[in-house]
Amino acid sequence: MRVLLTGGSGFIAAHILDELLAKGHSIVTTVRSQEKADRIKEAHPNTPKEQLDFVIVEDIAVEGAFNKAVVSDPPFEAIIHTASPFHYNVTDIQKDLIDPAVIGTTGILKSTKANAPTVKRIVITSSFAAIVNPKKGLWPGHTYSEVDWNPVTLEDAKANPQDGYRASKTWAEKAAWEFVEKEKPNFSITTINPPFVFGPIVHYLNSLSALNTSNLRIRDLIDGKFKEKCPPTGTFIWTDVRDLATGHVNALDTPEAVGRRIFFTAGILTLPKSVNSRTMTPNDEAGGYPSGGLYSFDNNRAKEILGIKFRTLEESIADTVKSLKAVGL
Ligand code: NDP
Repeated sequence: MRVLLTGGSGFIAAHILDELLAKGHSIVTTVRSQEKADRIKEAHPNTPKEQLDFVIVEDIAVEGAFNKAVVSDPPFEAIIHTASPFHYNVTDIQKDLIDPAVIGTTGILKSTKANAPTVKRIVITSSFAAIVNPKKGLWPGHTYSEVDWNPVTLEDAKANPQDGYRASKTWAEKAAWEFVEKEKPNFSITTINPPFVFGPIVHYLNSLSALNTSNLRIRDLIDGKFKEKCPPTGTFIWTDVRDLATGHVNALDTPEAVGRRIFFTAGILTLPKSVNSRTMTPNDEAGGYPSGGLYSFDNNRAKEILGIKFRTLEESIADTVKSLKAVGL
C-alpha cells in the first residue's frame, strides 16, 4: 500500500514508519526540514527512494499545508496522521498547541478530499486526553471507553499547557469526526486514543532534553529526580509504542476499524513496582496505584479489532531504559 505518514521525525511515527516498511508498504513521510529527512534516511540506508520518500511540511497549522503533500506518484491509498505538538513548553496555548492540532487535522482531511481521490483510509493519532474527564479525578467505579469525551472548555484550555494539550487533542479529534459527517468524503477515518506511551527511542534526538514528552518521565525516574517524591501525573494508564505502531498499521486494512474510535491502553501504570528501587524512596506510593481506587478501562476494541496482544509494563520500561542508556543517559 502507498501510505503518507505525517510527522515522521516523531517518537511514535518513527515506530510506525519501521512497521510500515517491515510490512512492505511504500511510504512518503512529512517532516519540517531537509535535515530531519536526512536523519531518517541515514537510519534506513538500504531502503530505496521508491519505498521511503519525504515531503517537507514546515507548519501544519498553516491552511492548505498538506495540499501538495497528499499528491504522489504512484498515488496514496492511505494516510496516517500523527503530527501534532506534544510538549508543554509553550507561550501561547492557542497558537502553539490548539491551532496545529485542529488545523493540522482538518487540513489533512480537506487536502485529501480536494486533491487525493485515491485515498480510502485515514488513521489519526488521537489520545486518552480526548477521552479523560480531568474534573472527575481518579473516578473509582468508572470504566473509560470510546464513549467518553473530555468535556474541556476554552477556559480550562487556557489555564495551563497540560489542559491546553488535552483540549488540542479533544478538539482535533472532534473536528475530524464532524468533517467526515458533514463532508462525506471518499475516505473513512479511524482514531486511535493512547494514554502515556513508553518504549524505545528509534528516532533521531539532538539531545536528551529533546526527548519526547511521555518518555521524559522515565528519564527523570532513572535520573533520580523522583528520589524525594514521584509527582503524580493524573494519568494512570499507559501503552507501549511498538504495540501502538502495530495498531496504526493494522487499522489501515482492518474493515472493522472503519469509522471507529479505538481506546488503546495496555493497562494500569504502577511505576514504583517496575523500576530499580535505588531511584525511589522506600514505600513511595506516589505514581503508584492510588489507595482510594481508580477508574478502570475497556481496551477490547484494540485487542479484538486491531488484534493487539499488549506488552507488559516490565518489558516496556526495561526496553525504554536500555534505549535511553544507549543514547547517552
Ligand atoms: P513527538 O513530539 O515525538 O512528535 C510530534 C510530531 O509532530 C513531530 O514529528 C513534530 O515535528 C510534529 N509537529 C508538531 N507540531 C508541528 C507543526 N506545527 N508542524 C509540523 N509538524 C509538527 O511526540 P509523539 O511521537 O509522542 O506524538 C505523536 C502523536 O501522538 C501526537 O499526535 C500526540 O498528540 C499523540 N500522542 C502521544 C502520546 C505520548 O504519550 N507520547 C499519548 C497520546 C497521544 P518536529 O519534531 O519537527 O517538531
